[in-house]
Amino acid sequence: MKTIYLDNNATTAIASEVREAMMPYLGELYGNPSSMHTFGGQVAHAVAEAREQIAALLGAQPEEIIFTSCGSESDNTAIWSALQTQPEKRHIVTTALEHPAVLNVAQFWERQGYRVTRIGVDDKGRLDQDAYANSLTEDTAIVSVMFANNETGNVHPIGKMAEMAKEKGIVFHTDAVQAVGKVDIDLSKISVDMLSLSGHKLHAPKGIGVLYVRKGVRFRAFMRGGHQERGRRAGTENVPYIVGLGVAAKLAAEGFAAERSQVGALRDRLQKGLLDAIPDCRVNGDIENRLPNTANISFKNVEGEAILLMLDQLGICASSGSACTSGSLEPSHVLRAMGVPFNYAHGSIRFSLSRYNTEEEIDFVVSHMPDVIKTLRNLSPFKG
Ligand code: PLP
Repeated sequence: MKTIYLDNNATTAIASEVREAMMPYLGELYGNPSSMHTFGGQVAHAVAEAREQIAALLGAQPEEIIFTSCGSESDNTAIWSALQTQPEKRHIVTTALEHPAVLNVAQFWERQGYRVTRIGVDDKGRLDQDAYANSLTEDTAIVSVMFANNETGNVHPIGKMAEMAKEKGIVFHTDAVQAVGKVDIDLSKISVDMLSLSGHKLHAPKGIGVLYVRKGVRFRAFMRGGHQERGRRAGTENVPYIVGLGVAAKLAAEGFAAERSQVGALRDRLQKGLLDAIPDCRVNGDIENRLPNTANISFKNVEGEAILLMLDQLGICASSGSACTSGSLEPSHVLRAMGVPFNYAHGSIRFSLSRYNTEEEIDFVVSHMPDVIKTLRNLSPFKG
């Protein structure tokens, strides 16, 4: 059975160009980039090139790129650094929609005595901008707002929010793990101080990330030890993965416009096909400001997990907006924050596409989904 992979916000396939570029660094080019000899030097050169490729994708300077092990490490580091460099400030501003890599870090600091403001959203998942404006105080050490939401795909007005923080001299961090490679980000035009990204969301391997830190922003290392990354992140560089991420960034930069419209057209075809064919379903999120690859759709009176199991039997991979905790299916914190009604929130499915999906795959999903939903609705204990 062929796999139809529509779960690209969870992780992506490694691009063949990325894999090929990595191979020499998993084989004969195994040197340490810190070594003085030529053998290490050629590896250092490859790391430098990857740094340039990533900086080019983001409109940043190569020295502003710090390699980390993942998006979560980048998020932890950004918040840690802002708090450690400004010990007098005891307030964190974030949102109710963040990934656990920020949500749980904010909660950790809250338990250490910090005050945390979590900006809420409306029913489309749009951040409350008045609440945001009112939240910024002299005591605020950092604002951390995700660029795009992993569940709904909503893209937040990061440029405007970063500018407001800058006016008050507050460090602004964005978790752009879901946005990099999918929407235009030009850090030369917006006042973001720190940005997190993760390789495995843009066709590079798992286990490599980046923290961008704008030149001039005070920084304190989270991972201490050797002098790697100019003393900003200790640990011998993960050279093959860094090289892979560089190539993934180059591919994203080169294929950007074409890919965005191609993936967007497939996503729209899927969404329209499902909404036309299936009664009582709705799109969650802000369809005007969404990642081109994501559609989060709720099917009334069905369990998301049951939908996923039936899709799995057809070889279709997607995600649900609920998580099984202590035996009960709780809608995700994102859908709860948006106030999605109970009988819709439970049946929400996130479809997230990539450049490797085809029209045939989308048509296959559209042709099978109505039967899946009908079957489950006939079995459902909830009616009406
Ligand atoms: N932030 C967001 C928005 C994500 O979607 C994810 C992964 O799903 C992460 C952070 C964590 O990235 P990583 O898996 O590289 O730690």
